[in-house]
Amino acid sequence: MTAIYDVIVVGLGAMGSATAYHLASRGARVLGIDQHEPPHEFGSSHGESRIIRLVYYEHPLYVPMLQRSYELWHQLEHDANEPNLLRITGNLMLGSENSGLIHGARRAAEEHDLPLEEIKSSYLQDRFPQFMPMAGFKALLDPAAGMLNPERCVKAHLDLAVRHGATLRLNERVTSWAPMGSGVRVRTSEGTYEAGKLVLTAGPWMSELVGDVGPALNVERQTALWFQPPGDREMWAPDRFPVFMCEFADGQLIYGFPLQPRGWKVAVHYQGEPVTDMRALRRDVEPHDVARVRNAVSRLFDWVKEAPLLESAACLYTDTPDLRFLIDFMPEMPQVLVSSACSGHGFKFASVIGEIQAKLLLDGKCDFDLTPFRMDR
Ligand SMILES: Cc1cc2nc3c(=O)[nH]c(=O)nc-3n(C[C@H](O)[C@H](O)[C@H](O)COP(=O)(O)OP(=O)(O)OC[C@H]3O[C@@H](n4cnc5c(N)ncnc54)[C@H](O)[C@@H]3O)c2cc1C
Repeated sequence: MTAIYDVIVVGLGAMGSATAYHLASRGARVLGIDQHEPPHEFGSSHGESRIIRLVYYEHPLYVPMLQRSYELWHQLEHDANEPNLLRITGNLMLGSENSGLIHGARRAAEEHDLPLEEIKSSYLQDRFPQFMPMAGFKALLDPAAGMLNPERCVKAHLDLAVRHGATLRLNERVTSWAPMGSGVRVRTSEGTYEAGKLVLTAGPWMSELVGDVGPALNVERQTALWFQPPGDREMWAPDRFPVFMCEFADGQLIYGFPLQPRGWKVAVHYQGEPVTDMRALRRDVEPHDVARVRNAVSRLFDWVKEAPLLESAACLYTDTPDLRFLIDFMPEMPQVLVSSACSGHGFKFASVIGEIQAKLLLDGKCDFDLTPFRMDR
């Protein structure tokens, strides 16, 4: 039987929607399948905002990918006629000189010759009076950073994928897949499909589809909270208040955004609750979740202890042990690409990862060294 599709994309969140778009825009016959109707709030790509930053404290190796990522987000805004998917605000990084955040940011900026402004502590209050002074902390501003709207980005990629001829099957769950000669067969709750190639971008559900192949994929439940900030709302608006990250103790980070329609959003990075069974996931945000975020964030904004809580959401990180992405073909299966680009920092890369994955599937190569993201690293 002749395969109808060139590529099947399983999971249409941040990574899958971008991959489906890049494949379809190059003329591939694409089938995208999702168990829900993206953008939705059950995975990792919801909650109004995601930080995008160029001075990448995690490792300088990400910078070239980020540079391409910015170009592709702007191209998406243009092609989908969706302005302001990306909004530049700058990213204020706060931490001690030896913190991973400050040390890593300086290293990335130096290695790639990126603009990075050091704000002297005596001047920080004048420049950003919203932040409480933190004794002994450095303040670095990445002027290229800003925020993306995840729901609008996913929708824009999917709309364009369809415009380029992709077929989407939504509210349809993939139950199994198997290689079939040099192609693949995919079974879902509704039927069976065949294609030349398969890409699995199932986010926190990935282990259900690939088992324990490659690095462990540990899912952690995170809580984002939206507060009502004090005083003049204009003080917290994107043109006056940047996205920020603060490493307040060794390896312990909080981050937040300017005021948006849902409120002023903050969260704790990592150290979330482990999730071993996606079916048993607690989606409601409970008082102890709120207390944890309030406690951490009030180190930098003491008013948060008492601030009115406007909204909350649970969301999922899918972490590899080294927190790097997983982008590789299944062992012995060059027709099956596995992509788990999360570890709590993947969204900003979705545009470039979509392009990379389309190139890997259609050309067998891409413009970046993916060694750090291999299964056998
Ligand atoms: C609270 C929070 C804050 C974050 N902040 C940032 C940030 O500021 N900056 C940043 O760059 N990154 C951030 N991230 C990380 C980023 O959001 C993720 O890297 C990214 O959203 C992961 O996208 P994904 O496509 O891998 O997963 P998802 O978006 O979850 O998509 C997976 C899709 O697969 C579908 N699926 C799964 N299994 C099946 C199946 N069997 N059949 C059919 N469909 C299936 C799901 O329904 C889902 O739609 C954050 C993440 C969280 C949770």
